[in-house]
Amino acid sequence: MIPKSHPRYVSLMTRDKIVEGVRQGITGTQGLIAQGRGEAFDYLLGEKTTFGALHAEKVAAAMMLLAKRPVISVNGNVAALVPEEIIRLSEAVNAPLEVNLFYRTEERVNAIIRHLRAKGAKSICTKSDALIPSIEHERAKVDSSGIFSAEVVLVPLEDGDRCKALTDMGKIVIAIDLNPLSRTSQWANVTIVDNIVRAIPNITGFVKEHGKLDEDELQKLVEGFDNKKNLADAIDNILQHLSARK
Ligand code: ATP
Ligand code: MG
Repeated sequence: MIPKSHPRYVSLMTRDKIVEGVRQGITGTQGLIAQGRGEAFDYLLGEKTTFGALHAEKVAAAMMLLAKRPVISVNGNVAALVPEEIIRLSEAVNAPLEVNLFYRTEERVNAIIRHLRAKGAKSICTKSDALIPSIEHERAKVDSSGIFSAEVVLVPLEDGDRCKALTDMGKIVIAIDLNPLSRTSQWANVTIVDNIVRAIPNITGFVKEHGKLDEDELQKLVEGFDNKKNLADAIDNILQHLSARK
């Protein structure tokens, strides 16, 4: 048991969840490495949601509310770290969940679907009857009525190539990635440089707040967003945080 008073309590609990995900066959072993990389960037950002990330979360909420067909992509790390939170967001914006794995096996896809259902998920796209163009076969498999035909896709922790392929298909991609330099971050339309454990509840919070706004106001929020500036700000946040520690 990790005591709550431990200075790295949240980080250690998060690790436990990922390790447990691997044990349950939900998270791939490569997911452990991805989490480690994410943690390193989180440390550099001060392990908190920056002002810029919060704004990107606000914009992401508006985009998902405005979309006619939003879909939320779920991988093994997301399923292990934030299953309840992602289901809550899915319900709040009326976006089905779709399991989308980099190291895809049908066994792991099914294990994640069962895990999400056990946590109460009702809307899950489970077919794999369509392919994302120009991606290697197993990684390209998607649901024709899910990601394939979605207008806006939220991809927490996506791979760079697939992120680019989705934007090439004309979709709006919202990525959550603590590394502002990753190819995913660079290709996405909106990059939320924040830990998914903080980002998902924040987006859901903004969805509730946005309930008071009309479509024009939501549209204004979306139009005013500049992802290049957003990523440059994230890099500045890292520099400022490092300078303050010298
Ligand atoms: P890319 O293919 O986009 O260049 P990559 O190969 O550097 O990415 P991967 O290992 O494919 O990275 O994916 C892991 C990414 O997810 C990393 O950029 C990491 O920072 C990010 N990440 C890992 N855990 C979290 C988390 N809990 N919250 C947010 N981002 C995370
Ligand atoms: Mg990658």
